[in-house]
Amino acid sequence: MKLGNLANPAAENFYRCSGPNCGILKKTSDRWWLMWTSAVNFNQPVLYLCAWDEEIANREGTLHVCGELCAQRLQSQFMGNIRESQLRRSGIAVRS
Ligand SMILES: [Zn+2]
Repeated sequence: MKLGNLANPAAENFYRCSGPNCGILKKTSDRWWLMWTSAVNFNQPVLYLCAWDEEIANREGTLHVCGELCAQRLQSQFMGNIRESQLRRSGIAVRS
């Protein structure tokens, strides 16, 4: 009989999908995607999307994405946010 041989849950990384209304947990065999936004290289926010990479996955601000559908939802959210801030900046001048 073996005692005290429990796996240490802290040693494993758990990733949850950032997709709206998703939030499923990543299994080790799943091929997920990574998305993040950054304004560092250009003068406006840019949306980045790439294949899963353990190092990028652990960076702050990286979104973990389970598949195409969630990637599309996040892209849509990103585009919506930009439109919204553009409209806010231009004020009511756009309307007339
Ligand atoms: Zn998802």
